[in-house]
Amino acid sequence: MLFNAQTTNRYAEDVLQGVNLVAATVAGTTRPFTGSTPAQLAPAVEAIDLESPLPSTAAALEELALVYLKDAVYFHDTKYAAHLNCPVVIPALVGEAILSAVNSSLDTWDQSAGATLIEQRLIRWTADRLELGGRADGVFTSGGTASNLQGLLIARNQAVAKLRLDPRREGSRLPALLDGLRIFTSEASHFSIAKSASLLGLGYDAVVPVACDSRQRMDPQALRAALDNSVARGETPMAIVATAGTTDFGSIDPLPAVSALARDYDSWLHVDAAYGGGLITSLRHRHLLDGIGAADSVTVDYHKTFFQPVSSSALLVRDAAMLGHVTYYADYLNPESAAREMTPNQVDKSLQTTRRFDALKLWLTLRLMGADGIGLLLDKAVDLAADTSGILSADPDFDLAAPAQLSTLVFRYLPAGTDDARADAVNRHIRKTLFASGEAVVAGTKLAGRHYLKFTLLNAETTLEDIREILGLIRRAGRDYLTDTAGVPA
Ligand SMILES: *Cc1c(COP(=O)(O)O)cnc(C)c1O
Repeated sequence: MLFNAQTTNRYAEDVLQGVNLVAATVAGTTRPFTGSTPAQLAPAVEAIDLESPLPSTAAALEELALVYLKDAVYFHDTKYAAHLNCPVVIPALVGEAILSAVNSSLDTWDQSAGATLIEQRLIRWTADRLELGGRADGVFTSGGTASNLQGLLIARNQAVAKLRLDPRREGSRLPALLDGLRIFTSEASHFSIAKSASLLGLGYDAVVPVACDSRQRMDPQALRAALDNSVARGETPMAIVATAGTTDFGSIDPLPAVSALARDYDSWLHVDAAYGGGLITSLRHRHLLDGIGAADSVTVDYHKTFFQPVSSSALLVRDAAMLGHVTYYADYLNPESAAREMTPNQVDKSLQTTRRFDALKLWLTLRLMGADGIGLLLDKAVDLAADTSGILSADPDFDLAAPAQLSTLVFRYLPAGTDDARADAVNRHIRKTLFASGEAVVAGTKLAGRHYLKFTLLNAETTLEDIREILGLIRRAGRDYLTDTAGVPA
């Protein structure tokens, strides 16, 4: 069943069968989920004998419909409002089909040829829209976690290189140099920052959490104080990580103030725009990213606010030379001679080796919908979040944690007279009840130790009517729970 010049008919027929199955399944979905539990789904998967292949693609797809597609969680459904998963655009799906079949690997030119140029154009397009300047460069990665790790690895190596110039540290071994490095990021930043610190040999303790204002944006005064304290202790501010779109609140740190502090304290500025990065295509909200062009490195997730299928992300740097921190010349793959000959081997810039041609999905999206097409979809989600924010703040049964900033809302069901302990219990119950019913999927999070519900809105097709219906489901589940448990201590 190898794909080659002799099997193109089989290829076209079989892939089309798969595509038709997904199309029919999606056309038939009426809710985001069936509510099936792991215990309900596991037996069917377990019962399959992997040593006994099926006779036809049709049979394998029939089986797959039962063990996967029937009970998958569907992000295109307008009552899916949980995590940062987007409905995907069709041009990107065309790209996905092409890139898998050709199977280019973006590590070296001799495995990717033109694909490398397409990736490079899209990196330049992204860097230009971020206003990173003429020397910027970058590379596609598997996700925001990987992009953040690479950004912080570069920051770490830059900091170490600077320390090595200090005559007092002459002869110091690497662990001693890493010891005093610190990363400053807000309390609302993504956990991949802490994980990166751990992976980079700095430990979780190297991350200094900076307080936020009431809207979960990093407080520049608190940042300055944290920097001062750290420097007074003899530590080195290796990096400041600002978030442009926090995962829970969509809050965007004050980028101009934070970048001024990064300059003052001679620190690397990484902006985690995994979520907010899509604003570079926005027709009405681009200003929310004002100041991002001052960053040394930026993370952008195309698989969030650019409506691309997983995976698709990029790490951008203001100075292309900084990518040299991950360059390793391997004789069998990307010898130094190739670099001297200016062969564009993207592995020179990447933590990965074999790497998907994810850029093709964004390429076809831009060629068919244009940046404005993406921006329109995102703007609708941002507007919907603002309208939902209005509904929630006007409703006495709900407690909205902060007004909408991007396209998320953190809130809890809190009818008058509900104490905190009962509020925690009822909101946990609501989330589980909705998921078990499959009628709607919402997320949950914690704020100041209390349980909240969360909407992440990325679907331009979702209407305020959908939101009202989800709120109705929430209210019903909450009211039932409070009635059933009245008088029972939480
Ligand atoms: C989603 C997210 C990440 C992680 O990105 P993945 O693509 O899931 O690895 C990092 N930072 C922020 C702010 C995010 O929202």
